Parts: sequence; structure tokens; C-alpha cells
Amino acid sequence: MRTAIVNLGAIVSGELVSPRIAGDTILMASGQITSVGTSSARAVEECEVVIDAGGAIAIPGLIDSHVHIAFGDYTPRQKTVGFLESYVHGGVTTSISASEVHVPGRPKDPIGVKALAIAALKCFQNFRPGGMRVHAGNLILEPGLIESDFAELEAAGVWMVKAGFVAFPTPYDYAPMVALARKHRMISMVHTGGSSIPGSSGIWADHLLKIKPDVSYHVNGGPIAMPEADFSRLVNESDMALQICTAGNLRTALLVSDLLANADQLGRLLIATDTPTGSGIMPLGMLYTISHLASLGKFEPELASAAATGNNAKVYRLNGGIIAPGRDADISIVDACLGGSQSDALSALRNGDIPAVGAVVIGGVPRFVGRSRNTPEPQKRIRVSRSTILHDFSGNAELR
Ligand SMILES: [Zn+2]
Repeated sequence: MRTAIVNLGAIVSGELVSPRIAGDTILMASGQITSVGTSSARAVEECEVVIDAGGAIAIPGLIDSHVHIAFGDYTPRQKTVGFLESYVHGGVTTSISASEVHVPGRPKDPIGVKALAIAALKCFQNFRPGGMRVHAGNLILEPGLIESDFAELEAAGVWMVKAGFVAFPTPYDYAPMVALARKHRMISMVHTGGSSIPGSSGIWADHLLKIKPDVSYHVNGGPIAMPEADFSRLVNESDMALQICTAGNLRTALLVSDLLANADQLGRLLIATDTPTGSGIMPLGMLYTISHLASLGKFEPELASAAATGNNAKVYRLNGGIIAPGRDADISIVDACLGGSQSDALSALRNGDIPAVGAVVIGGVPRFVGRSRNTPEPQKRIRVSRSTILHDFSGNAELR
């Protein structure tokens, strides 16, 4: 399938360097972006679907790198179905499982955690709620796992591990297992801050500096933050990625973002939601955190967006998150909300407003075009201007 987006007011790349791309058109074919900027009229005519953005702005599809996925599109914590599909209406095109720790009665022995990771990985390879890419099968590190287990999991395709659920006498005991995971090319993430589940202890900077994970998971607390002085230690004494989450401590999210900016290390800043949790289901969480950085923090919205897209893609080795030829064709079209004081999505974010999501394309396929079920309506008219495919791309017919 070939898809074109034309008449864009701006294109945000998702990269910290060159965050804006000149031009007004994006072309996609067979699930990937083929050209960005300008295009011949003929190339647009050859597309099966053309989306007229009406002057609205393209950003890469958001990558939420901390989602509490279980099985199916269901959250046991909030006993709700359909949340992932709902996140697509918040501009999220990719979710990364924060481990399947919320699965009721989840196993804690080595064979059980291995089976859980492999089953989750393989289920979500065949299941895309609302078109979303879901990366699941995040191995929960438990005592008793040995190197042959990591080798077996690597061969099965498992590529993520999660530490931090009370299993060991002290958090320092995770260090050898995280090293094994790295040896087997797995990306490691460690819970950071106060305890999130009864019985688990706090994990602070000193623990993380010795465990050496790839990602400090919710560095701003999930939901309770570590001590103030620990943030500069993580920024200055390590090179791990530091993930800030919507369902965490807002003040320290801004603090750590500033510390990274001042150290010229913004590539390490990742945005995620850490939901669904006790804090709820937050389909617009990624947009809220981007708006917090762009309004309360000192970040241009393009750079805050990069923390939610290109930075996550780089740390998690994904082909999305950046609008460039050869990348996955995952794009959101955003605008200022109808009735607001601002006239475009980037000004709205600077103002502390969330933008309206007017369309989401995943893998080159429009998932909805017109307006999101979850944001207010965009000011500009975003529509399918031509389609040779017999399909209504509104995604939410009841709004018509
Ligand atoms: Zn979490």
C-alpha cells in the first residue's frame, strides 16, 4: 500500500539534531517512509490513499517505553479492555512492555518467568491492537536464572529484561544478571525510586550505578522519587538512559531533564507513561509529559517530542520514532485544539496545552483520519482527500 500525506504545515523529525524537516509532503510504501519534504504530483497520484493535512503538523508516532502490558488488550490492574487501542488515539504507535508483571498470579520461578516472557513476546507478534506495535516479553529477573536461560531466551527472540521486584536480598544482587542479559544482547531496565509493589525496597542512584542497566525506568519515581541528590549522580556518573514517566513525580521529571540538557546529554532522556498502574489508564499521557517539558521546562516542543520518539527508538533499537526514508511509516498528525488560544500544535505545547491528534498512520496504514476519540477536535481539517481503497478511515464512525 502506498500512502501520501500532503499539505503539512511542518514536519518534526523526532531527532534532536535537525528536529525540523523542510517541506510539506511524506510518502510511504509497503510500511516504510520513502520520501520526506517535497514530492512530484505524479508520485502523490500513484498512492492509493492521500491524506490532506490541511496545514497541520506531522510528528513521528509516539513510542511509550513503559506500558504495563499483560495479555490481549486488557489491563488487569484497572480491569479494563481496549486501553492499547485507546492509546493509539493519543498518538502512540508503539508500546514497550514494562514486563508482564501485572499478569494475575504471575510465576516467579525461572521456568515460569521464561515461559511468561516467551508467550508474551509471541502473542504480541501476532496481535496489534488498533494497529499499534507492541513489544512484549520483557523477562522479569528472578533468583535462579542462569546463563543458559539467557541463551535460550535470546534464541527465542526475547530482548528485554526488567529488574526491581523485591526478589533479591538487596538491589545490588541484580548486577550479575543484568551483565548476563547484556552479554546476550538484551536491553535492561531497572525500577527506580520508592517501592512500587508491597515489600519491594527503594532503588536509588547508588544501586543503579552498580547494576548498570541500559535504562533507569521511571527515574522520576514510579510513582515515588529517589532523593534529590541522586539525580545528578545518575546524570554525571553514568551513561544510562533516564526515563521520565507521566505517572511519576513531575518536579523531578523537570529536574532530571534540566540536568541532562545542561550536561548536553538530552539523547539519554526518554519519555514514557508508566501506565496502566494504580495511577490509571492515560491515553494522552505521552502528550501531557511533552507539554510539561515544553511549557514548565525549557524545551522546545520539537526536542521534547524527540525524547518521546527518536530517543526511545535509539535506546530500544527500533526502526520507528524518526521521520526519514527507510524508517517505519508511523506518523501522527497534530494540531492546536479547536477553541484554544494557540494556532498550531507546537505553540499549543509551549502554552502547556496538549495538541489535538488529527490522524495516526502506522506501517503506512491510516488508523484514523479526522479526529481522535480522546483529544479535542483539531482546528484544521485533516481528511482523506483521495482513496482507491474501499474503507472509511474515520476510525470512529459515531463521531460523524
Ligand atoms: Zn511501571
